[in-house]
Amino acid sequence: MMANNIQDIRTDFPILDREIDGTELVYLDNAATTQTPESVYEVFETYYREYNSNIHRGIHTLSHEASVAYEEAHDRLAQFIGAEGREELVFTKNTTESINLVAYGLGLRNLGPDDTIVTTEMEHHASLVTWQQIAELTGATIQFIRVTDDGHLDMEHANELIGPETAVLSVTHVSNVLGTVNPVAELAELAHDHDAYVVVDGAQSVPTRPVDVEEMDADFLAFSGHKMAGPTGIGCLYGKRRLLEEMDPFLYGGEMITHVTFDRSVWNDPPWKFEAGTPPIAEGIALAEAADYLDDIGMDRVREHEDRLAQYLLERLEARDDVTVYGPPSGEQRAGLVSFNVDGVHGHDMSSLLNDRGIAVRAGDHCTQPLHERLDIPGSVRASFYVYNTTDDIETLLDAIDDANAKRDAYLRSERYHDAIYDHYKNPRNAGGLSDPTMRKSSDETVCGDDGEFHVDIGPDGTIERLAFESQSCAVSQAVASILTEHLEGMRLAEVAELNAIETLLDGQFPPLRRDCVVGPEDVIREAAREYVDRRTSTTP
Ligand code: PMP
Repeated sequence: MMANNIQDIRTDFPILDREIDGTELVYLDNAATTQTPESVYEVFETYYREYNSNIHRGIHTLSHEASVAYEEAHDRLAQFIGAEGREELVFTKNTTESINLVAYGLGLRNLGPDDTIVTTEMEHHASLVTWQQIAELTGATIQFIRVTDDGHLDMEHANELIGPETAVLSVTHVSNVLGTVNPVAELAELAHDHDAYVVVDGAQSVPTRPVDVEEMDADFLAFSGHKMAGPTGIGCLYGKRRLLEEMDPFLYGGEMITHVTFDRSVWNDPPWKFEAGTPPIAEGIALAEAADYLDDIGMDRVREHEDRLAQYLLERLEARDDVTVYGPPSGEQRAGLVSFNVDGVHGHDMSSLLNDRGIAVRAGDHCTQPLHERLDIPGSVRASFYVYNTTDDIETLLDAIDDANAKRDAYLRSERYHDAIYDHYKNPRNAGGLSDPTMRKSSDETVCGDDGEFHVDIGPDGTIERLAFESQSCAVSQAVASILTEHLEGMRLAEVAELNAIETLLDGQFPPLRRDCVVGPEDVIREAAREYVDRRTSTTP
């Protein structure tokens, strides 16, 4: 149905007319941030032209108008997810802040060494890192429900883990890498059987399908405005009214109190209790407009559209033997995102190639490093869709992926890149490890999202005698590592600790958009040299 008026929808998003170096933009990075329709950003103009003012503080017309619009925006977002009203809907900065609000307001105060936090291997860092921190601060144990090879949560394992000690279950509704739609209602029931709190990360679900907090029986649901046709700088936390009333604030200051003396303060009612200081007023009002925009289309239709595009891409990628796709296979319910790798082409190189064709995708670990470790891959390329994408966009993507290896070589040879990049990528010097190096330094996590390692043999006088690198990084980063190894042989470690050579070695010719890939290896070897020099200085009497 949506396909009938997709062209109308596209006209609501003027940015889609943009060209990237003369090529029409194909925007497939919606799981990171969606585009914003004109009606939403017009809210900003109206707000700042007509009633910009601080809320809840002034007895004047502008303040009254801003307050009413901002309060009603809470009701609108509450309605969007099936909550009762503004008392259950807190505006935050984003999903990350929403999860932190629950973790600090509730987790930090109530959890202890006897408690367990159960979460999953497919969590975004927004929740994984936050709960890891709460576990560390409270002595609680954190456990991860396993992800099966086909990208589902292992429900048997969930049943084993969720038990009487479980205090919190924190689960993502939709995986931002695998596209899996998790059975959150079933998981919530399990957790509630043991009186655990259920926190749902709705960053990828609220924008893409009908979500009803009552149906899923979530205690808390976090989501972001910028992934649902809204502006940046605003997110939401839904919480059951009783829980928000009981819960402690996370930030303190003005707006969140009703009465303050030198001795103590009395908190305001939810949601204001959790919105300390001047909140994102225009952003909140604009987000309500985004909810209107999506409801006009119909969230059922958004879901169908997303699923149709995902299935279309999945089927075509599955038919190729040079592509590995992650997550549930075609035919299963999916969110509108597909992560994959093309054999022999690093994600960052693929992103560059696609950008050359005007296609925006994301490559890397997508803020899910543990999941990528579980999948045993350094990173992946993710194409993600929204209401304005078409099968033509997918065809453009598929076409760009054809012969990616050859295209990667051609683009490395193009004039945008220094000749040394192609030469060193094709004929790497000092590649492979040394057998028993004096020093090794891993990049841990480079910007390319994978491990590179330098091996160094150091002579008695502190000079580099031999140097080698091992890397699964992108072509640019590997080439730079090779160039550096040639340059550094014979240098003193003390000099390397001050290294700033790569820009000169490449005659200042930085590949477009790839600065991080270029400077990464130099950062690693410089850091290694600094550590070595520091160790020597501290052990020398
Ligand atoms: N959770 C998931 C599943 C996400 O996809 C994202 C955004 N990539 C986040 C949390 C974090 O969202 P934000 O950066 O808006 O806080």
